[in-house]
Amino acid sequence: MLWDAHCHLHDERITDREQQIQEALSLGIKRWVVCSTGPDDWSVVNSLCREKQFFIAAYGVHPWYLDNLPHQWEEKLYTLVKNTPSLIGECGLDFEREDQKLQEEVFQTQIIIAAELQRPLNIHCRKAWHRLFPILQPYLSKIPFFIIHAFSHNLHIAREVLKRGGYLSFASSILRPWNQERFSKLFQEIPLSGILVETDAPDIPLYSPETGLSGLSRLSHLELVASQICEWKSIEREKLEAYLEKQWMQILSLFQTPS
Ligand SMILES: [Zn+2]
Repeated sequence: MLWDAHCHLHDERITDREQQIQEALSLGIKRWVVCSTGPDDWSVVNSLCREKQFFIAAYGVHPWYLDNLPHQWEEKLYTLVKNTPSLIGECGLDFEREDQKLQEEVFQTQIIIAAELQRPLNIHCRKAWHRLFPILQPYLSKIPFFIIHAFSHNLHIAREVLKRGGYLSFASSILRPWNQERFSKLFQEIPLSGILVETDAPDIPLYSPETGLSGLSRLSHLELVASQICEWKSIEREKLEAYLEKQWMQILSLFQTPS
């Protein structure tokens, strides 16, 4: 089974959701982590994920959307995550933007909630690795694991993530012709046990020579990412699927109350 570690299936730019799900199911893509981006979309993600048992929600505040956060958003997030089988995300740091201090505060608040509720984090990190690791470090022992979404950095940073128990989640950006050489080398060095796959749909479009990077990504693109990884790691598709299925079960086990 393949599953998508990071998508925004609730996004209104996806106008053919049901069709995309069917298309994905026919390719063996069977589960999705649906990431919210802020308090405004928590309820729509919640209704979507209640509807079908193959979605797990992630609730959080994306570093791009920190303006006008509602009063007591932290309490709302805490309650929502506590009462649902969910991860925390999409959250993180994006230092291509200016409000870095505020980003750090909002991110740390979410890490504290994750640590308290022992939930994984689904993290966006751009140009902020030097701050990400120090901010995460004190809480790592209480967080089951964290996922770095759309990982696109070098081997040194990949190892820094892996040694802290994080996963590197790869999107269709690994397929872009100008990225292929770099990623094929990276995959020689990182173990399967640290890898996840995602679409970030409807973002991170698939490159095509005709249309470039215009357009939206689809759930079905996960299959292309998975195939490329199998090729670069010289493993059978069954091996990747068995590994991913085990990881999905690990997430589910976080929500099972011990009997
Ligand atoms: Zn995203």
